[in-house]
Amino acid sequence: MAKYDVTVIGSGPGGYVAAIRCAQLGMKVAIIEKYPTLGGTCLNVGCIPSKALLDSSHHYHEAEKTFEKHGIDIPKPKVNIKQMIARKNDVVKQNTDGIDFLMKKNKIDVFEGVGSFESKNRVMVTEARVANARQPRSVETEKVIIATGSKPSSLPFIKIDKKRIITSTEALNLTEVPKHLIVVGGGVIGLELGSVYARLGSQVSVVEYMDSIIPTMDRTLGKELLKVLKKEGVKFYLSHRVKEVSAKGKTVTLRADDKKGKEVELNGDYCLVSVGRKAYTDGLGLDKVGIATDDRGRVEVDENLQTGVAGIYAIGDVVKGAMLAHKAEEEGVLVAESMAGQKPHINYNLIPGVVYSWPEVAAVGKTEEQLKEAGVEYKVGSFPMRALGRSRASMDTDGLVKVLADKETDEILGVHMIGARAADMIAEAVVAMEFRASAEDIARISHAHPTYTEAIKEACLDAAEKRPIHL
Ligand code: FAD
Ligand code: NAD
Repeated sequence: MAKYDVTVIGSGPGGYVAAIRCAQLGMKVAIIEKYPTLGGTCLNVGCIPSKALLDSSHHYHEAEKTFEKHGIDIPKPKVNIKQMIARKNDVVKQNTDGIDFLMKKNKIDVFEGVGSFESKNRVMVTEARVANARQPRSVETEKVIIATGSKPSSLPFIKIDKKRIITSTEALNLTEVPKHLIVVGGGVIGLELGSVYARLGSQVSVVEYMDSIIPTMDRTLGKELLKVLKKEGVKFYLSHRVKEVSAKGKTVTLRADDKKGKEVELNGDYCLVSVGRKAYTDGLGLDKVGIATDDRGRVEVDENLQTGVAGIYAIGDVVKGAMLAHKAEEEGVLVAESMAGQKPHINYNLIPGVVYSWPEVAAVGKTEEQLKEAGVEYKVGSFPMRALGRSRASMDTDGLVKVLADKETDEILGVHMIGARAADMIAEAVVAMEFRASAEDIARISHAHPTYTEAIKEACLDAAEKRPIHL
């Protein structure tokens, strides 16, 4: 029987990064994945395929809406959804093949099948789909990292039929552009995938329980994104409580009550349910080793991400915190390095959050609402994208950068932005905050001209001394 220093269950960004870091630190590592391709939710049905479709639909939208103005005359573009999905599948394959390569390179043994605890030091691998797998197999191991991720959640009265009433997984694989896509939940998935199909010509209606979209982010961002998406034709039903979603033939019907109790009925051909995701521990056999989960089904861990059982750790979507690939990766590294006796650290306050709509939304640190609630005295600086030469050149003038800084010390406490390429720009704010920069520090650093990042410098000038140059 194979014997390992560490066995990782789940090959998403948490699991595969943990496995690589453990191998780099000299450990003998096994990774168990129940699906035939590695990479987990993120690479197969999450981050990567959604960004592939967001990019394709963005190109289509640009061709349709802005090429003429740019002076590019083309015949009216047409959507070829089959090709779009085929390219997306190819992008996914390139990425999952990349993980295969990395596993080989780092001499990590990959076991295909469902991993479940037999005991603290033995994990059984069952239900492998590979034709010649000897089943079941057992892996003898010193330590285990649980990285089994999450699955879409739903509402108790909604039956996901995966044909008309769908989750993100099916929405990434449609064979036609919906005529009317109804989206339940105006969070990250609803707005990213809603944007894809709105750009491709679907009527999109978003029904959200709260009074704003992306409600966990700074309020300014939700307001600004709402304006832009409304301009694109997306309809919003905020403060609506969904009470029924049903499908009959090709028609989906949703009923919801607005805040006054008035019923709204929407009829469409697809309904995407995107009301969050839940930790996934099915079939793991946690009870065999006495590992506890919390009231939301997440594996309970201490500050070192160790479960109640010594030597068994858990990371990523299956534990508390933001359900983000880069958070899972950092946790994978932290566990590997702790096992090797190092003293790693994660600053959870500085995990950036991004929505890949267009314009993109990105944020790090505290929101204005959080600072108010905590009674922290702060200053606000902001700068609109439309005042930048770069934005005008590209006709991407929507959005703004907002910087929150400590009223007394000027230390940056939060940066919230919406604009072209905000997903990449937020890295500057993360670095600044990691080094505890003041708004004035950033305001005094040269930013290349013309770039979108000049809006960060200007917003910092505004926060520090109320003296933006270009406004
Ligand atoms: P996962 O990626 O979920 O991987 C867990 C793996 O464990 C899976 O492969 C699963 O099959 C396997 N597994 C489960 N149980 C067992 C078992 N018993 N035995 C063997 N294997 C098992 N995050 C971002 O940061 N940026 C984005 O742009 C982004 N976009 C997203 C878009 C969509 C549509 C979705 C759904 C999610 C997106 N996310 C994004 C979230 C991101 O995908 C997750 O936060 C991330 O994948 C979590 O990584 P993980 O390693 O914890 O788990
Ligand atoms: P989410 O938590 O982002 O949004 C869910 C939305 O549904 C919220 O706005 C919530 O108020 C709303 N909602 C909840 N119950 C409702 C109800 N009964 N009726 C109407 N609306 C309701 O969840 P998601 O969009 O499903 O995404 C799941 C996770 O995947 C997120 O935690 C996110 O971190 C991750 N993800 C990240 C990215 C990214 O980083 N770009 C992209 C996609 C997904």
